[in-house]
Amino acid sequence: MNYKTLLLQLSAILLIAVGCSPRSDKDVIADIYKTASCDSTSYHNLRILSKNYPNRLCGTSISIKAIEYMKEVMEGEKFDTVYLQECTVTHWDRGAKEVGTVYSSKKDKINLAVCALGNSVGTSANGIKAEVVEVKSFEELDELGERIVKGKIVFFNKPMDPNKINSFEAYGEVVGFRFAGASVAAKYGAAAILVRSCTTAIDTFPHTGVMRYRDSKEIPAFAVSTVHADILSKLLKEDSTLSLYLKSDCKFLSDEKSYNVIGEIKGSEFSDEIITVGGHLDTWDITEGAHDDGGGCVQSIDVWRIFSKIGYHPKRTLRVVIFMDEEMNQRGGRKYAEMARLNNEKHIFALESDGGCDKPIGFSLETDDINFRKVELYSSFFKPYGINNFINEGSGVDIGFLKDQNTVLAELMADPTHYFDYHHSGYDTFERINKDFLEQGSATMASLIYLVDRYGLK
Ligand SMILES: [Zn+2]
Repeated sequence: MNYKTLLLQLSAILLIAVGCSPRSDKDVIADIYKTASCDSTSYHNLRILSKNYPNRLCGTSISIKAIEYMKEVMEGEKFDTVYLQECTVTHWDRGAKEVGTVYSSKKDKINLAVCALGNSVGTSANGIKAEVVEVKSFEELDELGERIVKGKIVFFNKPMDPNKINSFEAYGEVVGFRFAGASVAAKYGAAAILVRSCTTAIDTFPHTGVMRYRDSKEIPAFAVSTVHADILSKLLKEDSTLSLYLKSDCKFLSDEKSYNVIGEIKGSEFSDEIITVGGHLDTWDITEGAHDDGGGCVQSIDVWRIFSKIGYHPKRTLRVVIFMDEEMNQRGGRKYAEMARLNNEKHIFALESDGGCDKPIGFSLETDDINFRKVELYSSFFKPYGINNFINEGSGVDIGFLKDQNTVLAELMADPTHYFDYHHSGYDTFERINKDFLEQGSATMASLIYLVDRYGLK
């Protein structure tokens, strides 16, 4: 054997040795991000979901078609099994488009962009015409009392604070008017309520969302766009006795069967330990729901697609769950947790994406300190990708029902700056999706699940 042959053989042995050595976690994660960015499938699927299946509120026929579409998508992704999990959902129907018109002696009549809030009763067929009382807090409403409020439309006009970096915090300060305003106003004999849309965007999209009645007369509840809230407020300053006409046609139809869509990959070593990743398929009925939450659905499916492409088979059982009915009553999330308990399943980790698809910035966990520290230890792997936030401040709505089953819960955090521009409105369309951010979100989720799957949590 001459020197040259020996050198070639040594090189070959070295190459084989390198090839056989397990890849480092850092390399696997780099591969995950690269794979996500080279695959347009989720972006393409989100376009179809948004454009062909918009307004997919639970109980509607379009929501069933969306379920069938997602099942078909998942069946093309080499899961071990794809199945539907039945749940019963309510069917709230908006009916004819709402009307909101201001009549003032000082101006021609002005139409406002309004929409009924989810769960609201409709007005009578003739609508409601009444004077308007504008308030910016419940305290202000309490002070006015029945003497001023009775028979009028209460206009909750507190703007969301645009100076808060975390828009979820600003949302939290005003969403109570949408959620509970009707019941509080009804106590004082109000005829209806009109709520400024929960967004800092100044535009003409009314933003809907769920409201509830609590021990009070059920009065119609509407949202108004921010532009028209400002116009109405200005008109009221000029003419405090102007009247507002509101008409809505919404009502509940009979309950319907609906479904979560579940794709499962059996774990290779610890198949009794389950990791769930998901988003919700239902949307409000006035939106394509691209950010909320079609994007979360396709990102969740991406987790498995990426694993499959890089040749990683999870040690633990991986479930991708496309939940139904997050917006109204969370019947899908409740059913999933109920079945997990009934079947004595051991859910070690659940990750949800329901915070929009802008640039991913981290994870918010919901667990005890010990488990939080374990997950936080992984944070250094994410720094090269701009993922710098690991907090323990709550997770997702649908996976939240697993909390009392000792499941470590987490939600992907995306840059929240513009989330409420889209939220629950006609502005949440596929055009608002940034492909790179969507895919970075998928990769960020897949990376955390890879680490949790590889090393476990206990
Ligand atoms: Zn959502």
